Amino acid sequence: MKGILYVISGPSGVGKTSIIESTLKKIKNVVFSVSCTTRPKRPNEVEGRDYFFVDVVKFRDMIERDEFLEWAVVHNYYYGTPKKFVEEQIENGKSVLLDIDVQGAMTVMNKYKDAVYIFIAPPSFDVLKQRLMNRGTEDKENLYRRLEDAKKELSYIPNFEYIIVNAQLQESIDQLCSIIVAEQLKVKRVIDRLGLHKFFENGGGKSE
Ligand code: 5GP
Repeated sequence: MKGILYVISGPSGVGKTSIIESTLKKIKNVVFSVSCTTRPKRPNEVEGRDYFFVDVVKFRDMIERDEFLEWAVVHNYYYGTPKKFVEEQIENGKSVLLDIDVQGAMTVMNKYKDAVYIFIAPPSFDVLKQRLMNRGTEDKENLYRRLEDAKKELSYIPNFEYIIVNAQLQESIDQLCSIIVAEQLKVKRVIDRLGLHKFFENGGGKSE
């Protein structure tokens, strides 16, 4: 009985964190995977809750030891998903949600065909710029880097299965909850989860 892997991507400032936090409060059987990063901690962030903040030496060491499910350089810093945590949760039947950039999502796509890929897009580029400016977490240089990167990230949209256009936060939360629940209710997944293949003449669509 394996859990489902949900992969969420979208440009910086689009509202991923707010959508994910509220969704996880509503849906209890999905856990968030906390990433490692070399980016400096922001004042409101908590070690182990938002990220594991590590230095470049430690991060490279973790790459060497194959401790990441995926990793990427995003806006000039390293970010990576700890492999052990995700694999253990999935094996134990817990679903896991990743908030990672598009490069990382592409890497995961090559490894987990069965994962669910969701892109969160802004209603417009101007809205994205305004949100990033209002958030006030980036200096001017980083803000412009993130906006430049956003253009590239949007070009990856066709690789994803679902898209949520975050115009209105509550609506986006409802949409993410709907996607999560709909995936849990797919016949193939229910048959897998409950081990019901033997009750169906055609094996219940089991892939060997
Ligand atoms: P921020 O610095 O704003 O927290 O995150 C910047 C970007 O890095 C976001 O797009 C976020 O999705 C991405 N990110 C966070 N963790 C990971 C990770 O483990 N792997 C990858 N590839 N991207 C990540």
